[in-house]
Amino acid sequence: MVRNNICINCHPAGCAAEVARQIRHVRRNRHEGRGGRPSKVLVLGGSTGYGLASAIVSAFGYGATTWTVAYEKPATETKAGTPGWYTSRAITEAGSILSVQVRSFNGDAFSDAMKAEIVEAARKEGIEFDLIIYSLASPVRTDPVTGIMHRSVIKTLDKPFRGKSVDMFSGAMSEAEFLPATAEEAADTIKVMGGEDWKLWIEALSEGGVLAHDARTIAYSYIGPRHTWPVYRDGTIGKAKNHLEQTARELDRSFMSTGLAAYVSVNKALVTRSSAVIPVIPLYVATLFKVMKERGIHEDCVDQAVRLFRDKLYADVPVPVDEAGRIRLDELEMGNAVQEEVDTRMAIANEENFPVIADLDGFRKDFLRIHGFEVEGIDYSAECPVEGTSIARFDLAAPEEGVGEGTQDQI
Ligand code: NAD
Repeated sequence: MVRNNICINCHPAGCAAEVARQIRHVRRNRHEGRGGRPSKVLVLGGSTGYGLASAIVSAFGYGATTWTVAYEKPATETKAGTPGWYTSRAITEAGSILSVQVRSFNGDAFSDAMKAEIVEAARKEGIEFDLIIYSLASPVRTDPVTGIMHRSVIKTLDKPFRGKSVDMFSGAMSEAEFLPATAEEAADTIKVMGGEDWKLWIEALSEGGVLAHDARTIAYSYIGPRHTWPVYRDGTIGKAKNHLEQTARELDRSFMSTGLAAYVSVNKALVTRSSAVIPVIPLYVATLFKVMKERGIHEDCVDQAVRLFRDKLYADVPVPVDEAGRIRLDELEMGNAVQEEVDTRMAIANEENFPVIADLDGFRKDFLRIHGFEVEGIDYSAECPVEGTSIARFDLAAPEEGVGEGTQDQI
């Protein structure tokens, strides 16, 4: 049931099977962590997309105790829960099968209550987090001090912007228009998607005595191609992402004595529940996928998370960053040859040629897969209980070298 690129149901068994696929992939690509390894990890927004992939790499790639926080809806008697409800259960259960401690907390990460719950639980278990990943994507945030609910918007900051958009199911193209935000809307977006809450988390963990010495913390960001900048990088969301970058520098300064290192990682454009609803994104991402797949350099969330840990955070060199201090996981997407080819194709894109010049089918499949549909090995004609399916039903063993599932070595 998909409306305006939002899927309003999901398949519980498919969600568990998708987690199993990511676990197999990560176990196949395990690395020794010559530059250290995470031991106690907290992933905020760890139920879907980049956060889920990061939690899976941390737990099943490194064997780190991994706790996640997400805001998901459980199933009711008649209605399935949200995909992240099932994926959270699946990683916890996989943890007990594979002897790694994975705990999933469900609730509002923006609230003081959730911060207190994590601090208390960590103290009880004598846990000090050495890696905190901030991967929240939310349309709203209630300020814990004022109680005011702020809403983020995807708008420009000056003049209106029009961009081509495509419906991933029908292939129909249309023009999407983005209007300039009011000053209040821009400030609200920073409040929701900027770094204020990230900082509150680090302060709460530190004050609660559950932040390890020399810990690392990382928040995810996106820059993307120039033609999306009016609505993205130079728009309301971009301003919030700038705030995230300022917050990283502020955290470095404020927590210098504890040895904390704060990073922003700029990741690749991918299909997640949050990105699919941004009107111009499906057209760009479908074109990008085709170009990157043709060159054998396509990556999904779990590939990106593997590479983040292996080549950036825990390589045996200082964490590589760009001139602005950011980790770049988007370098393959942003390479000149890839961008030029994407630009050329997008300029000529129409409803007839799009299925050939872009990978709309791949986009649609990824979108369905994150909701548990079109997942290999699932019998969609069988009854599927809303309470979910045990991940034990699916294979969690790493596939043999060179068998199945694209390997990290291709990247
Ligand atoms: P997503 O929608 O898949 O995941 C969002 C997560 O946040 C989920 O786990 C959800 O439960 C959680 N969440 C939302 N509100 C919450 C709340 N109030 N309390 C607790 N948990 C809450 O999104 P994603 O695309 O993986 O985005 C994660 C980060 O990655 C964002 O900062 C995004 O900007 C960034 N990013 C995304 C892309 C992309 O193409 N998808 C690219 C680069 C960077």
